[in-house]
Amino acid sequence: MSTHTRVEEELHDNAHIDYDRVTIQWQPSVPQLYEEALKHETGSAISSTGALITASGNKTGRSPKDKRLVDEPTSSSDIWWGPVNTKLPEHVFLINRERAVDYLNTRSHIYVFDGYAGWDPKYRIKVRVVAARAYHVLFMRNMLIRPTEKELETYGSPDFTIYNAGAFPANRYTTGMTSTTSVSINFHMREMVILGTEYAGEMKKGIFTVMHYYMPVKHKVLSLHSSANEGPNGDVSVFFGLSGTGKTTLSADPKRYLIGDDEHCWSDDGIFNIEGGCYAKCINLSAEKEPEIFNAIRFGSVLENVVYDEKSRVVNYDDSTVTENTRCAYPIEFIPNAKIPCTAGHPKNLILLTCDAYGILPPVSKLSSEQAMYHFISGYTAKIAGTEEGVTEPEATFSACFGQPFLVLHPARYARMLADKMEHHKVDAWLVNTGWNGGAYGVGERIKLKYSRAIIDAIHSGELANAEFENYDVFNLKVPKSLTGVPSEILNPAKVWKGPEAEFIESRKKLAQRFIHNFRNYEDQTTAEVIAAGPVL
Ligand code: ATP
Ligand code: MN
Repeated sequence: MSTHTRVEEELHDNAHIDYDRVTIQWQPSVPQLYEEALKHETGSAISSTGALITASGNKTGRSPKDKRLVDEPTSSSDIWWGPVNTKLPEHVFLINRERAVDYLNTRSHIYVFDGYAGWDPKYRIKVRVVAARAYHVLFMRNMLIRPTEKELETYGSPDFTIYNAGAFPANRYTTGMTSTTSVSINFHMREMVILGTEYAGEMKKGIFTVMHYYMPVKHKVLSLHSSANEGPNGDVSVFFGLSGTGKTTLSADPKRYLIGDDEHCWSDDGIFNIEGGCYAKCINLSAEKEPEIFNAIRFGSVLENVVYDEKSRVVNYDDSTVTENTRCAYPIEFIPNAKIPCTAGHPKNLILLTCDAYGILPPVSKLSSEQAMYHFISGYTAKIAGTEEGVTEPEATFSACFGQPFLVLHPARYARMLADKMEHHKVDAWLVNTGWNGGAYGVGERIKLKYSRAIIDAIHSGELANAEFENYDVFNLKVPKSLTGVPSEILNPAKVWKGPEAEFIESRKKLAQRFIHNFRNYEDQTTAEVIAAGPVL
């Protein structure tokens, strides 16, 4: 039996997908997926640089409120039920699954891709994507690890399957459904079902969630929302940070090998990337400031929700009419100095990225290991709320382990694993603010990308480790007095603040209070030393 036929049989037996009615394209090539998308999917076009432009419809970002985990006996006692993980009864999962399959069976074509998540063969899982849109399969073809011809011969059955029927809504009258969008994961059945959202990022972050369960629970391997790269001498840096803080941007560094831009695991053998691709923000993208990413947008890349010229098909990266969250998904080898396979040794530097829109956190500070734990658990960044309406108030966000929406276990479990690893391997930790300086959003300005890059360079060259530091009050952070390529006056927020000193002191106090208030959630799960490493008023 050919592999294709076996896949058809499997889909029929496992999910009642009717291959007599539906043409199943298994492991389609990039040109085939282009042709399918252009033929069948509105909003598809080819960009002037050869990327496939796609439209994700109403949803141009994830829908965290519509995410559910099935409450079933094999996983339930491990799951951190609460703010991010909402219970779904197994029979409701089956109702959604049936709805997804029924929809897939109404299509003339569906697309199937078999790939891997995790570059270390010891821990990788086989992931199958079944989708009605070529866009979704090309996206996951880019984001998963693409098996070689040889690997496909012995691939067998997947460990985990995604059924993506995103163009079809969930039934709002199904118990537990609060909207027409539903993203649900069943760890026991090893399946994920998507209804009512065509935003492809749900699949990527869904697999990340799956890895946040299987890796620590089954293998004692730590999963991390981070990018990673490696220097010419083999030193590895891991960059933690919430959305928009610079993981993708700062890890694409011509002087270093890219291991991955968003999802990693740290095992006893070192670091490995979960993904086979990158997912970069495109808003205000320029060839001058981010050449590696700009040049990765070519034939094979999936370009989401961008605005382009009707005739020339040249993309206007400054246009946010469809969404601020325009994105491009490309295979990691599109970055010239990607390290393939995407694995490396234990990290030397942990870089905690934050985008502080209050202008309070220093552009860079050196952290003790207790401070690193404190800031990892806090997971602070700030967003600009409602820029569209001209509201200029920053909004503080605390997201545990810099990735709360993807955590499956209690944050303290990941934090403990990180603390053990930090203790075992000699790791330096740094807090890097890529956000505002000289004042809050509206008054100060965002730290220039070239300065953030110079800071990262100084971490890597060893210049910062040997710098002279001064103490930054309240947060008790060690701030360098000077470093190459960055004007010294911006290094200490107290000194660069443009407004009155009293206003600065008040803002710093307010932010410290937010940290302290947020950390109360974790005090019973951590040590006195870590609590003491936070801001002190
Ligand atoms: P996500 O988790 O959503 O993928 P991310 O951490 O990868 O987010 P990036 O895609 O790197 O974030 O986004 C950072 C954005 O901020 C980019 O658009 C970048 O051009 C912009 N930026 C502006 N100033 C800086 C700076 N000083 N450092 C880093 N990025 C900056
Ligand atoms: Mn990113």
